[in-house]
Amino acid sequence: MTAAERLAISAIVILASIFPVEWLPVGLQLLHGTDGHLSGKQGQVLLVRVPVQDTAAVVAGRFRGRNVAFFPEFRPGESPGFLALLGIDMQEEPGTHGLDVDVRLNGEQKVLHYDIIVSKEQYAVERLTLPKNKVDLDEKGLERYKAEQEQIRQALAEDSGSRLWAADFVEPVDGRNSGRFGSVRILNGQPKTPHRGEDIAAPMGKDVVASNDGIVRLTVDHVFSGKGVYLDHGLGLYSMYFHLSEVLVKDGEAVKVGQVIGKVGASGRATGPHLHWGAKVNGAWINPFSLVGLPILNGASAHRASVR
Ligand SMILES: [Zn+2]
Repeated sequence: MTAAERLAISAIVILASIFPVEWLPVGLQLLHGTDGHLSGKQGQVLLVRVPVQDTAAVVAGRFRGRNVAFFPEFRPGESPGFLALLGIDMQEEPGTHGLDVDVRLNGEQKVLHYDIIVSKEQYAVERLTLPKNKVDLDEKGLERYKAEQEQIRQALAEDSGSRLWAADFVEPVDGRNSGRFGSVRILNGQPKTPHRGEDIAAPMGKDVVASNDGIVRLTVDHVFSGKGVYLDHGLGLYSMYFHLSEVLVKDGEAVKVGQVIGKVGASGRATGPHLHWGAKVNGAWINPFSLVGLPILNGASAHRASVR
């Protein structure tokens, strides 16, 4: 993927002094008034920066009923602030939605409000007619699928309270990106779950690396996704790697950005060797490529950042 392609899918917004000055209660030293609006497309991640200078503050956001975790960021020569990765779900309703950011410091509280304008992304629609037994799981298969979904739900139920990554996000494998993120398959007239990631075509056995630091939350061998790895990057951010031929990490293991976690394969329901790469942030399915190239300083501290 080229830098230009990356730019096209990642909307990056850093709030600057473009909004009118607003005075805050004593003790909350905000640099500027912060109410305003941001915009992005379905499946993108927005970088929201709230200029709260005192890093002892507790900053937490709510968007569409979902928690949005903030963490302190330090830039040399600039006042510190708090950052959040705001995920716009691949199927977020287009329109204007509120992001409320709760800032607490020394017993005082302030709620900042942003309007997030969500625009529609154009996703491909594939219509296929296949033999019925290729589309629907039999009773036993359905039982297995349900148990797998429950296993994933439980493994990812509790977000790690601290940010585990500090480096830039990297693409997990070199290859050709199919651009299938968000695409809808209509099989025998029935719409199936939209494609929640990107498929990257790469040769069988090629190394797959962690896109950032994190903890292996779950390794699986599932009916659709095959051999897979779920990484927890903290503060509600997860990445997934499916259809592997080999998994080289264990549940609970800490991994570093660029570390080999598995090998490209075609396990599960795959028509050929490729990596399915997915990402979820605070409950929103996002295009994983929108994480690559985010302008977050590597020196930003990764200590405990928010309280739910
Ligand atoms: Zn896929």
